[in-house]
This record gives sequence, structure tokens and C-alpha cells, in this order.
Amino acid sequence: MYLITGKQEAYQNFSVKSQAETIISIRWSSDGSSLAKAVEISPLYSTASGNVPRAFAHAPQEESHIKERAMMSDARASKHTSAAASSAPLSISSTNVLPFLDISPDALVIVNPAGTIVMVNRQTEAVFGYARTELLEQQLELLLPQRLRAVHIAHREQYFSSPHTRPMGIGLKLVGRRKDGTEFPVEISLNPLLLDGALHVIGAIRDMTAQRIAEHEHLQQLEQIRLQAELINLAHDAILVRDPVSRVTSWNRGAEELYGWTVQEAQGRITHSLLKTRFPSSYADVDEHLEHEGQWEGELTHTRRDGSSVIVESRQMLVRDEEGQPIAILEINRDITERRHLEQAEQVVHAETVARLAFLQQVLDALPSGVYLVYGPDARLLLANRAAASVWGAEWQADQPMLEFLKSNGIEITDAQGSPFPPSKFATLRAVQGGETVLQQQELIRRPGGSSLPVLVNAVVLPAQRRWSGPLQETEQQLPAREAVALVMHQDVTALKEAEYLKDEFVGIVAHELRTPLAALKGFADMLLVQTARGRGLALAEWQQEALEEIELATTRLVKLTEELLDVTRLQAGRLHLQRTPTNMVPLAQRVVTLLQQTTTRHRLEVRTTQPELLADIDPGRIEQVLTNLIGNAIKYSPQGGPVTLTIWEETAARIVGISVQDRGIGIPRRQHAQMFGRFMRADNAQAWGISGTGLGLYICRELVERHGGLLWFESEEDAGSTFFVTLPLVSARQGDHEVPS
Ligand code: ADP
Repeated sequence: MYLITGKQEAYQNFSVKSQAETIISIRWSSDGSSLAKAVEISPLYSTASGNVPRAFAHAPQEESHIKERAMMSDARASKHTSAAASSAPLSISSTNVLPFLDISPDALVIVNPAGTIVMVNRQTEAVFGYARTELLEQQLELLLPQRLRAVHIAHREQYFSSPHTRPMGIGLKLVGRRKDGTEFPVEISLNPLLLDGALHVIGAIRDMTAQRIAEHEHLQQLEQIRLQAELINLAHDAILVRDPVSRVTSWNRGAEELYGWTVQEAQGRITHSLLKTRFPSSYADVDEHLEHEGQWEGELTHTRRDGSSVIVESRQMLVRDEEGQPIAILEINRDITERRHLEQAEQVVHAETVARLAFLQQVLDALPSGVYLVYGPDARLLLANRAAASVWGAEWQADQPMLEFLKSNGIEITDAQGSPFPPSKFATLRAVQGGETVLQQQELIRRPGGSSLPVLVNAVVLPAQRRWSGPLQETEQQLPAREAVALVMHQDVTALKEAEYLKDEFVGIVAHELRTPLAALKGFADMLLVQTARGRGLALAEWQQEALEEIELATTRLVKLTEELLDVTRLQAGRLHLQRTPTNMVPLAQRVVTLLQQTTTRHRLEVRTTQPELLADIDPGRIEQVLTNLIGNAIKYSPQGGPVTLTIWEETAARIVGISVQDRGIGIPRRQHAQMFGRFMRADNAQAWGISGTGLGLYICRELVERHGGLLWFESEEDAGSTFFVTLPLVSARQGDHEVPS
């Protein structure tokens, strides 16, 4: 008869004869793996019948009891039991034990001292895949992998020499081998046993595969938690957890660094009083928000341990348990003190800038001229005053590129004479694209309504600004570094133009009216001189001859002056029209040189060229006028005589003909170079030498050359001489087929 019980007292009540003899412990788990319930099996001897087994008894037990009593898995129990077991092994009879072995969830194997299996339970068959008959009479090592067998034999023999109870889970990494050769982790507990009076060992073998996997996963989880904790500590942000009544339960390193309290000091403290939190509205509001929304975000001001304030961007989250009861609040606080201070400083600067710009705007608006600021290569508008809008006749939107503004409003910009003007020549674009400071450029604005406005444009490049914002634009603009900013001013010169027009008209009328009497004067003076020289009429006295020559010279000068004045008025009014025809430049130049050579004996005029023919697309009369003026000047401004060289060459690639006129005369002072093409402009040294002139020739020459699509410029050194350069377009191949007038 056996007693199955979990408590020592229980079998004591049943008069267990010997504790050591009577206990065999088997445990199982209700789910097959845990230690929820257990039984102990003990033979029970009635006091009356002596050694005769009388009854079974069993009782489900708490795991703790098992641990203490039966499983021997803690050290105390292990020692106690092993001591008890080694002193007196369990004694059982083979006759009835098998059914009990079969109820064990573990594989149970009984071996004799020779290591031969004498008994296995059903679980052993299931675990190892052998039929019971295949195992009986086999060596225990059959259940081990080959590589461990030899070692195990030695262990087993050693064990039999001193049998004792060896509980499971004492750290051995044991491996079992199934019939199919697969291996699996096992734990084995050993108990010496007297089977039918002979010493045996009963081994309980448990397949640990599932448990090992669970252990592994558990370890991984622990590692993950450890890493997460590390991560939390690595964060610069203060990360803390507080319970529903705001006591700190977790406080990371970031919190220690930000606030100055260690985790030990902060633990258990009410956060709001520890940190003297200042809420945007109130604590109650934050709390209510958390309660309803489950989270809250906002700015808080805290006081550090050292008394200083810190502004934090706080994110909080309420955590609830399964029943929905709040259990914790997670809080992440980021220090934004510096950012806030910078923002505040920036706001102050911004406010000042806005105020300054508003003032600037008022000043600009008070100006009668149109003024605006543009930036970037496409001249986008930054700021414009009120007058600018009336100059354009349209509202230029902030940030709009200039050409887009002009196009969308049908505004055209031309040169002063109304000729089309490439945008690259607009004063504004020259400033922002080429970094040029353009002063007093004449432009004509043709406005949407059809009216035209002549303006003088000044465009000044300003030192690059990092940031502009203006009252005209609500939004702040960030300018890319090094984008040119230009201040442009439009001066309405309608009145001036009007006056100039009237003056030109007047000059034109006067010149025109002078022409006829002058022609008569010159004609008669010429006639008198020529006819007298031929012996017709009375011979003239010497003084009469001189007077006539003077009259002839003066009328020649006057005719030249009136012609020049008329040309100027024609150019100004855009009434000068070219009669272009393909012309060979070489004989044209030679003809002018030959004519002018006759006017001087002190100068040696020469034409240099390597080409006999260079066809230019020109108005020959006008180009002759230009060359006559340039060679005439070379002679006039070399009062001491000297060589005057005209050189002609071809620039094939550029399809132009180049002409230079060089003299060794008085030259032009460097300081006056820039103004020499202005009307009535004469150099100081020319007047000092007493050389007469009008200062109109160069102006007319440049206008004429440019109207041909060419260029006129000079290089000059005072007292060393001057060289004037002209370029004119060559005739294109098809034009060249025409007959050439020489
Ligand atoms: P003008 O000769 O009638 O004064 P221009 O317009 O032809 O008028 O020339 C303008 C000024 O340029 C001259 O007054 C003179 O000072 C200067 N100039 C022109 N050509 C020369 C030259 N070849 N050498 C020196 N100075 C010159």
C-alpha cells in the first residue's frame, strides 16, 4: 500500500516507518511543463500490520512544498534529501511500480549498476521514440549521443560507487538522443533505488527543448529591456515615469543631468513640487487633458536643483492597466531654454528690422522719384516706394522677377530714342547681373496705357544682406548668400526731355535757316576768289584778297557747324536714316585720305591694309563722314605735324571690318576719356592749344557707327597721341554678290 502526499506531517500521521525508505517523488504539471501540482508516493505501513503496505493516499500540493520536499530543487531540500537518500535508498518492488512510473510526465528510466536499462515508463518511449522492448536490456548510453557515451559510462560508474540523489537543474548541459538520431536538451534527476532489494538508479529525464527556447526568449527579452534602459539613459532628454499621484518611479540619466537630482534623490518625489513646475495654464488643465486624450504636449518651466530655470518641451503619456485604471505617466522633457532665448533675441532683432524698414518705407514713399530694391540675377522685387508704381503704371509684386513683371503688364523698356533695348542693357539687370553701378542711364518706359516716360536710371549695387523683410511683404525673406541686391532710382525726365526737344528743334530750325544764306555767302566768296584768280574782273588788292579768304574759311566752318547741328537734331529725333549698301572699305578710306592729304603738308597720311577689298554693309556717305572726322581730328590735334596712319583689317570670325586712325598728336587727358563722346565735349588740352572745334564730331561719329551695328572707341595718352578704332559689319556672302560701288 502506498501513500501519496505532499507534506511530511501527512505521512507522519499515517505512521510512515522510515522517511528515507518511503518517499519517492514524482511531479507533473497540469500543462505538462510547469510545477503547479505534484504528488508524492510513499509506501504506507499500518502500525498494526507492521510492514504490510496498506493503502494509497494522495494530495495535490503547492509548488513550494514540492520544492521543499520532493523536487529537491533548492539547495536546502537537495542537501536534506540527498543526505536522506544516500543514507537509505528508496526500496520498491518491480511488481507494481510500472503503473506509477507511467503517470509521470518525465521519462523515467531504471538502470542497474551495470548501466543496463531494466525499466522505462511510457513517457520514455514517447520522448526517445523507442518502443519499451527496444530499450530494455540496453545500455543506458543508448539514450545519449555517441560522443558523450564514454564519458557518461565513467560518470555512471562513479555514481554507483557513491549513489545519491542528484536533482534536476544543477547546471549540467545534458543532451539526449532519440532513436532517429536527433538530439535534444534534457535535464536528469537521479535517485538511488532498491528495486526488489537490489541497488538501482532511477533517472527522471525531462525534454527541455521547449523550456530552453522559452529561456532563450526570456534572455533575449531581458537583453532587450537592458538595451532599452541603456538607450533611455543615453538620451539627452529627461525621461521620467511618475505614478498617478505624480511620484517619480523612474528617472533617467538625462533627467539627472538636466535637473541635478540623482535617481535615488528623485525617486518617490512629487515631480511638480520637486521641479516647481510652471504650467502654461494650470496643473489641473494638463491633468484633465491627459485623462481625456491620454497624452499632452506643451512647454513647461522647471526649476533645477541649483535654482536656475529651464524651459522644456514636454511630452506626456498616460498609461492605463487592463481595467483602464491609470498606472503611470511617461514624460519626456527636452531642454529648449537656449532655443527660446535665441528665438526671443531674434524676435527683438526682427521687430527692430521691421521698424527700421517701415521707417525706410516711409522715407522712400516721401520721395518723388521711383525707388525700388531688387535682388538676385532675375531682379526680384524686395521693396518699392509709391512713386515706383506710378513710374511703371503698374504694381510690381514682391518677389516677382523684373522681366516677368514687365511682360505680364505689357511694359516695354527702350533706349532714349525709343529703339529696342536688350534686357541685359537695362540698368537694373546690369546692376544685379554684372554687379555694375549704373549712373544716369537714359531709358524710355512704354507703359500699359501706351504712354511713354523718359527716365534717368541709377542702379547701385548694395553690399549683400543676409536677410531682408519689409512692410510691403508680411513674410520674412531669406536671401541666399551672396545674391546681389541693387537699389534702383528712376528719375522722371519728361520735363528735361521736353526742354531738350525744344532746344533741338530750335537748333534745327536755326541751322536749317542758316544753311541757305551760308551757302550763298560761301558760294559768292568762292566765286570772287576763283574768278579773280582767273583774271576776270579787276585785280584785288592784297587786303581784299585776304579778307575774301577769311570770309571763305569762316563760311566753311559755319557750314560744317550747321551740318553737324542738323545731324545732331536728326539723331536726337531719330530722323537720321542710313542708306546701306555693300561698299568696299579700302578705296573709300583711300579716297578720304587722299582728299585730306591735300589740306596739309606737315602731316604724312598713309593707308595700311593687306586686303584690296573688304566689303562692308554701310551707308558710304555716312562712313566717309566718320572717317573724314577722325582723320581730320588726327591732323587737327597734331599741330606739330607727324604721321597719321589709317589701318584696315578684317576679323573673319567676328564678320567685321576693323579700322584704326592713329596720330602722334596732343592726345586726350586720361581723366576726360569717359566723357569724350558727349555732345559739345572738348578736352582741356585742345582748348589750351587754341585749336577750334565744336565738340560735336565724335558724338555724331559714335552714333553713326553704332547705328551701323559697329563700335567706336579710342586709346589715348596725353602728349603721345591717340588711336581711334571703328568696327563695321562685313557684308554677308549673299549681299556680297551685288555689284560694288567703289
Ligand atoms: P571738335 O574736334 O570739333 O572739337 P570732336 O567731337 O571731333 O569735336 O572732338 C571732340 C574732342 O575730342 C576734341 O575737341 C578734342 O579735344 C578731342 N579729340 C578728338 N580727336 C582727337 C585726337 N585725334 N587727338 C586729340 N584729341 C582729340
